[in-house]
Amino acid sequence: MTEESPALYVVPTPLGNLSDMSPRAIETLRRAAWVACEDTRRSAPLLRRFGITARLLAAHEHNEETAARQIAARLDAGESVALVCDAGTPAISDPGARIVARVRAAGHRIVPLPGPCAAVTALSASGLAEPHFLFYGFLPAKVRQREDALRELARLPHALVFYEAPHRIEETAASLLAVFGPDRTLVLARELTKLFETIHACPLAEAPAWLAADADRRRGEFVLVVSGAPLSTGESDGEGERVLRLLLDEGLTVKQAARLAHAITGTARKAMYEKALQLRE
Ligand code: SAM
Repeated sequence: MTEESPALYVVPTPLGNLSDMSPRAIETLRRAAWVACEDTRRSAPLLRRFGITARLLAAHEHNEETAARQIAARLDAGESVALVCDAGTPAISDPGARIVARVRAAGHRIVPLPGPCAAVTALSASGLAEPHFLFYGFLPAKVRQREDALRELARLPHALVFYEAPHRIEETAASLLAVFGPDRTLVLARELTKLFETIHACPLAEAPAWLAADADRRRGEFVLVVSGAPLSTGESDGEGERVLRLLLDEGLTVKQAARLAHAITGTARKAMYEKALQLRE
């Protein structure tokens, strides 16, 4: 079985419900000589629970370089290493990406296991039907930077996925409303897979009152999913039309200009195409 050959195995662990630990994850961790953990105190109970006796190695955001060197040395010695984070998938708003890059650059095989990830779990229950989503992770903590970051996303037609901590959930909901306006849908996914799991969808306008109504709604861990920007008709989209006109004036075809104006401004491609046809006429 491939799990026996030395490699760095990237192993997701449960978000809360231990039954989400996959048989393959358990087997991989049992076979690994070493488990690199974001926080050994957090991972040790989980590992004990599944009878995993591997030696532990610290791999957190402040020692990724050192951890990568240690992991590469273990792999050079013919031992397998599994990488885990406190909960969910390593390298997704968690340490791991730099370790993976360095270990691969050192010539070793990386074997990812699929498994729990809060963003994907929330999306699957969001009911949002956008064909694309953008995973953002944590927004900046300061309101000004947070709203600047949101403004950059405001025109994208994709579902947007954010992580948020309980002590900032209300201010982040307020920022989403301030930048995206009242009509877009917000799905608050709280305490996923845990006892008090709550998934609530509402227009952004209603989110602050919903959160304020009950302190329990503001506790725990959150994923926020926001529906994409509505398709613009082009008429109301000054920036899209401005860019489109420039591109058409440069002699681009309707199709090229619509594609580029969409890529530059985020305005719906179909709306840009229709506007370009109108402008050409
Ligand atoms: N690597 C993890 C993953 O794959 O989802 C994410 C780690 S990140 C440091 C922690 C954030 O993920 C939390 O602040 C919260 O936004 C989200 N999260 C983790 N577990 C969650 C849960 N059970 N319910 C809702 N959100 C969760």
